[in-house]
Amino acid sequence: MRFSNSFIYTSKEAPSDATLPSHIYLIRGGFIQGIGAGLYNFLPLGKRVLEKVRAIAKEELDSAGCQEVELSFVTPSELWMESGRFEKYGKELLRFKDRKDAEFVLGPTHEEMMVNLVRQYVKSYKQLPLNLYQIKTKFRDEIRPRFGLMRGREFLMKDGYSFHKDEADMVENGFNKMKDTYSKIFTRLGLDFRIVDADSGAIGGSGSKEFMVLADSGEDTIVVCKSCDYAANIEAAKRSPTKAPIAKEGEEVEMTPGLFNTPNISTIEDLCKFFHIDAYYTIKAVAKKALYDDGVEKLVLFFVRGDSDLEETKACNSVEANELIDISEEELIEAGLVPGFMGPIGLQEDIIYKIDSELKGQKTLIAGANKKDYHAIDVQIPDYGAFFADLVAVSEGDCCSSCGGSLYHTKGIEVGHIFQLGTKYSEPLKAEFLDENGKRQPFVMGTYGIGISRLLAAIIEQNHDERGPIWTKATAPFDIEIIVSNIKKDDELNLGDKLYSQLKELNIETLIDDRKERFGFKIKDYELLGIPYCIIVGKKIADGLVEIVDRRSLEKEEISIDQVVSRVKELVG
Ligand code: ATP
Ligand code: MG
Repeated sequence: MRFSNSFIYTSKEAPSDATLPSHIYLIRGGFIQGIGAGLYNFLPLGKRVLEKVRAIAKEELDSAGCQEVELSFVTPSELWMESGRFEKYGKELLRFKDRKDAEFVLGPTHEEMMVNLVRQYVKSYKQLPLNLYQIKTKFRDEIRPRFGLMRGREFLMKDGYSFHKDEADMVENGFNKMKDTYSKIFTRLGLDFRIVDADSGAIGGSGSKEFMVLADSGEDTIVVCKSCDYAANIEAAKRSPTKAPIAKEGEEVEMTPGLFNTPNISTIEDLCKFFHIDAYYTIKAVAKKALYDDGVEKLVLFFVRGDSDLEETKACNSVEANELIDISEEELIEAGLVPGFMGPIGLQEDIIYKIDSELKGQKTLIAGANKKDYHAIDVQIPDYGAFFADLVAVSEGDCCSSCGGSLYHTKGIEVGHIFQLGTKYSEPLKAEFLDENGKRQPFVMGTYGIGISRLLAAIIEQNHDERGPIWTKATAPFDIEIIVSNIKKDDELNLGDKLYSQLKELNIETLIDDRKERFGFKIKDYELLGIPYCIIVGKKIADGLVEIVDRRSLEKEEISIDQVVSRVKELVG
């Protein structure tokens, strides 16, 4: 492509809300254009990168036996009502009516549509397994669209769905196969990523993994073990229960059961000072409002050990809510609770509560007495009950539940998600087949997503410097750029043109900067476009030389004109 008549427009300015390098460089480099919150136009450069990412995903998926389809973006509301998600999805789901008053939603994901498709054609176990996918625009009316392509409202997703006769087949021929396929895709894209255990929602279990591109700017916190290969999203991370602090001789904690007057002592910190104990011996109460379908709201209490924090996703799953939100002191008082002095023992019967599993059967604890200015001493938690759930947030330095090693936090960008769905959608949508014994069974499913447009941001977050993005070889909009230093000089322009034709002949994707601009201006643009290599055709022609710049190292290599094409072949090959 010739820069001089291309639709490539770089700029010095980035929008004021752009804070991440990926957002800034995608806009400044003329890859995308913002046209509203979470809405972007892809310009020629951005479109080229997007197509490269899409093509790699497609190649690997097709070779794994998946079949590409393309379902309607506008989806009938009835399907969402059948699955029960019409309500549950909340405000991210854009609902609208057509001129005949029929209700539709813009697809934020396509489980219902895909199940609806398959249930009409697949009637027998002989037609299974089946893996269908699409690479298609999605719309989610995100509450906080931000960071450019990272969290858009309209975005491009690869979404795939597999259908199986039983769980074993789904795990082997669906989930595990997609895990391998996704690993190949992200490796080919040139990314440094990790596969982590992920939140599986209220269903629980270990049937969900996320592919995380490691980057400091990532929105997700990942818990990683220093000693083994354990890695999990903090929303799903496990740890060994915290241990009692080692007491010196004669300093063992002794408690006399009963209520203790603790005026104005309403935080864990104050409680520890007051009783001269470690937070390990206290119980922390966290009150939330849980939101359910049809606008139902319930007050819920969560109890964790005082040295630990509540993990909200885990807490939300434990009460099977759609969402948890904060609750005011007034609302707590109205419900008969005593803020600052809430505890698991002696609660009114109508209060829903969950206790962290690490507290099961624990003794010598201090907790709120549900009475103003009082704490209960020597509290003992039963060792059975339906109210236990994993609620704690894993902190740095906690011990790995697999090997005992030390856990630490790192940041990641979720670029892929694979999920064992089971019969979550096939049952309500009555998508069934006849098994070997002629018995009707719901399909056992898996669902698999990749954030295709988010990947552009993720690649840059992992690959950039202070001058611009540094595309990986597989994702760069062009393999190489030729800068003609001064187009007024015929020898420079002619050599540039000649190299351009030769490289094109070899199917090397080349951009030639033949604009009437100064060299300094052109090299700045080159750096902002992030193309892996650049040939500078300039004054050195006189010595029979050109220069090749490596965008990553910014190192320059002088090379004789007759060797430049073979050198480029080597570099980009
Ligand atoms: P997140 O936790 O980041 O909101 P999600 O769990 O809602 O993601 P999925 O429903 O699993 O995401 O969607 C599959 C993939 O689509 C994600 O792994 C992510 O890469 C991408 N994705 C999700 N939401 C967005 C968005 N708003 N903008 C761009 N990509 C997105
Ligand atoms: Mg989301």
